[in-house]
Amino acid sequence: MPKLIKGVGCPYCGSSCDDIEVLVSDDETRILEVHNACIIGTNLFHHANDPTRPRLPRQRQPDGSVKEIPYEEAIDYFAKTLLAAKKPLIYGFGSTNCEGMSAVGRIAEKAGAVLDNCATICHGPSFLAMFDNGYPSCTLGEAKNRADVVVFWGCNPMHAHPRHTSRYSIFPRGYFTQKGQMQRTVLCVDPRETDTAKLADHHLMLDQSHDYELFDAFRTVLRGFDIPEVVAGIPREKIKEAAEIMKKAKFCMIFFGMGCTHTDGRNHNIDAAISLTRDLNEHTKCSIMAMRGHYNIAGPGQVWSWQFGFPYCIDLTKGSHAHMNPGETSSIDLAMRDEVDCFVNVGTDAGAHFPIQAVQHLKKHPWITVDPNFCMASEIADLHIPVRIAGVDEPGVVYRMDNVPIQFRAVIKGLPGVPSDEELFDMVYERMCELTNTAPIWLAAKEDRKYPQNPAVI
Ligand code: SF4
Repeated sequence: MPKLIKGVGCPYCGSSCDDIEVLVSDDETRILEVHNACIIGTNLFHHANDPTRPRLPRQRQPDGSVKEIPYEEAIDYFAKTLLAAKKPLIYGFGSTNCEGMSAVGRIAEKAGAVLDNCATICHGPSFLAMFDNGYPSCTLGEAKNRADVVVFWGCNPMHAHPRHTSRYSIFPRGYFTQKGQMQRTVLCVDPRETDTAKLADHHLMLDQSHDYELFDAFRTVLRGFDIPEVVAGIPREKIKEAAEIMKKAKFCMIFFGMGCTHTDGRNHNIDAAISLTRDLNEHTKCSIMAMRGHYNIAGPGQVWSWQFGFPYCIDLTKGSHAHMNPGETSSIDLAMRDEVDCFVNVGTDAGAHFPIQAVQHLKKHPWITVDPNFCMASEIADLHIPVRIAGVDEPGVVYRMDNVPIQFRAVIKGLPGVPSDEELFDMVYERMCELTNTAPIWLAAKEDRKYPQNPAVI
């Protein structure tokens, strides 16, 4: 009898929906149906059935071809390559669980590596602004239950976080927002007429990369001063009208995305957005939230802050202390300056999403990809190690975009012999300890670790 599993988490976008239902075959090896998820989440679950999913590591040969090798060999190569490198870069972690993020910390310390995650090319500027200016935020539950004015600034959830508007921000009926969408005024600030803009009551179609000026204009109006006739392509009256709507809200919620972090000004745009949020709190209640991209990209920020005190761009090369300085210790900057001599891609696709010049620099050195699937990063790698898919055939803790932790479950059995990220990193760490003749340092929790003691059995 097929089994319906409820309360499943979707391992795709930062909405981290945890109300998915999955029908699995009676032997728990195949996903038959997916309910409640958007099309992206549905496809992700069905993709786990793909019979061509890699089951063994694949290593590039001297003639350029790739050959399948046993896990023991891959782990040995991984450990030796990291130890031989002067400054390895371990990057990714948007799409894995917190257990894997924690386990990689031991390897990074042992290798004297730089540890970085996808925030570096995504909401990293938001972190910089938060360091400078704080983060007056809340949970998505508060947005759902209280927000009567919702602002989407430089983000397009209808495409990037498809169920965000139905679960948290526009349509749901919350405790104080029982009329749902009818009770909410939606503003969208975007240079394009996106599908989110089409949903909004007011669309401020600003000139691209002029967000900073527009934030400033809002702040100026809120303080009772006059502004020029047109700012960032938006007429003064429209800005005043939007500022008035935000000011008169019972609870104003500002969501922002790559339209702010990837355009001119970057962290300064977010700085201004946070200051606007603070200014609005002189008049009403207002909160701001970064539309974090991957389902657990908030995870490395949490886990590594506990471990090292920094959320990303963590330089462990000194051996005695961690150091963070985006611009100096960030992945793209390190790659462009040719400062790293080994690249490890985990749970992301730097091959597809890094600028080509950065990829060309990184490709001069050993490149190891740890990923459940074939992707650009696996196809250009010297070694590709498949792992289980967190949230599909591996359980684990993830942090939603509002930093709320959620326990994701596994819905099907993993491919035989394929380890999780955590198991793989633990085995690489043990091999590094063997090679350096040092004793592994395990946290108390790790004494109960679940992976086989002898890699030969997997
Ligand atoms: S909105 Fe995001 S988390 Fe929710 S089902 Fe779609 S892809 Fe998955």
